[in-house]
Amino acid sequence: MSGTGNGTGTGKGTDRTDRSTHAVIVVGAGPAGLLLAGDLAEAGVPVTLLEKRPHKISNLSRAFGVHARTLEQLDARGLADDLLATGSTITQLRLFRRLSLDLTTLPSRFPFLLITPQYEVERLLERRARRLGVRFQYETELLALRQDADGADIDVRTGDGTTATHRAAYVVGTDGHRSAVREAIGQPFPGVSVITSLFLADVRLAEKPGSVLTVDGVGDVFAMIASFGDGWYRVMGWNRRNEVPDDHPLDLDEVKDVTRRALGTDYGMHDARWLSRFHSDERQAPEYRVGRVFLAGDAAHVHSPAGGQGMNTGLQDAANLGWKLAAVVKGQAPDSLLDTYQAERHPVGKAVLRSSGGLVRLARAQSPALRAVRAVVSALVKAAAPARTKALAQITGTGYRYPAPRGAHRLVGTRVPDVALRSGNRLYEALRGGRHVLITPPAVRLPHDATADGEHDSLPVVEHWTGDRRTALLVRPDGYVAWAADDADATAVEAAVAARFITAN
Ligand SMILES: Cc1cc2nc3c(=O)[nH]c(=O)nc-3n(C[C@H](O)[C@H](O)[C@H](O)COP(=O)(O)OP(=O)(O)OC[C@H]3O[C@@H](n4cnc5c(N)ncnc54)[C@H](O)[C@@H]3O)c2cc1C
Repeated sequence: MSGTGNGTGTGKGTDRTDRSTHAVIVVGAGPAGLLLAGDLAEAGVPVTLLEKRPHKISNLSRAFGVHARTLEQLDARGLADDLLATGSTITQLRLFRRLSLDLTTLPSRFPFLLITPQYEVERLLERRARRLGVRFQYETELLALRQDADGADIDVRTGDGTTATHRAAYVVGTDGHRSAVREAIGQPFPGVSVITSLFLADVRLAEKPGSVLTVDGVGDVFAMIASFGDGWYRVMGWNRRNEVPDDHPLDLDEVKDVTRRALGTDYGMHDARWLSRFHSDERQAPEYRVGRVFLAGDAAHVHSPAGGQGMNTGLQDAANLGWKLAAVVKGQAPDSLLDTYQAERHPVGKAVLRSSGGLVRLARAQSPALRAVRAVVSALVKAAAPARTKALAQITGTGYRYPAPRGAHRLVGTRVPDVALRSGNRLYEALRGGRHVLITPPAVRLPHDATADGEHDSLPVVEHWTGDRRTALLVRPDGYVAWAADDADATAVEAAVAARFITAN
């Protein structure tokens, strides 16, 4: 597709060329696109969100697990409490038989996994994006993209068959695993298929399972039931003896049979509103940025559903890219800031691929050697606190840190937990609004303050520690440490504030 589109029509509708230049066009209104577009709009960047579907929200759902780090990002946008109200939480995360992780030890305001359908996440993100002024264009499919030094032309087709060409200074492809944007910029998507023929069903149950998440594997079958909390349950299953193509018919009897064999009962399931088969790949684009075009979410990486990482990782991509792109579009930051998106997010995508793939391989281990490895991994994680902490940090997304420049303070690049501030705010409340937050000892006074607006609207919000901590901390809009220093004076702090967009940290 790269460079081949010519903006001509299909013969069905009329052709249009939109001569105005959009600042940013985001392609794909899944969770990653919705969060990113909302962040850009909040920063005052005009943004258009194209989506080929008539309307994104439907009762079909893929992801159902929202991890702590994602809830923290949503908290920084004032959405976490609304999302919590839509689902149920679990505090034990079961990995294999007899091995589960205790989430209550997480150093987070959200020491649990929230079980809620993906459409609830999308509903909240879409409502926010609309409120902030994102221009939505549903039934608009990207067909081709050509970029030059100043921007990109994209050819689209709308629901009535009309084709049009839009121009944007920047384009972000959040258009899912079959990304047309990725194809258009010539990025390969190397990787392998990990599991074929998983099935999914959303059902009602006559009998309530004992916990929000029930999962087990016996012999050749595996099944999992998660409660959405609204009377609907998500069933996911797999039968090693029945690996068939995604389009092979699936009926409720097959779902019941596999569930009974794996969990001992089918809980009287009935009224399936959705039945589907899918296969799971592990793939990653080598470059998340090519010129003025970026990839985020499933367009950049896909992995097995083990550990529930896909949507969560995509939302973190969006949170990383949004404030950087806004700063560059507004002329506050040099273009090089955008290169840190690849430097920070590509390694995380790779780590997620490795860990979720490893979990699946161990879970479905058949050979005695692999079963022995699984036993050792289980024993290790059970017995050793550091191994448990590491596994927890990775799965929940709370443990990733970004590269820091040589000689930087040890906190630079790390995630900042939610801390109480002298103003009475929590950090993730102070982050609402998409600005940096500067936390200093009360004695360090700066010329601007937290109430600044207008010409100061991109300056950090200034907060103070509640106790007598001597570290000054500059927190990025995505909740990572941009700069830190112990016993810094106002001049050093001012210099760090002035340099906050030069590089990511
Ligand atoms: C069974 C299953 C269970 C899962 N469970 C979890 C879980 O528990 N936790 C988790 O984090 N993740 C989970 N995932 C993964 C998660 O669903 C995806 O990672 C997530 O949806 C990716 O979001 P996205 O915004 O990147 O892309 P998508 O949600 O795929 O959205 C892409 C959007 O782009 C649109 N689009 C595509 N092409 C074009 C085009 N050419 N022009 C315009 N629009 C276009 C599409 O219509 C779509 O709306 C699961 C996935 C599956 C299949």
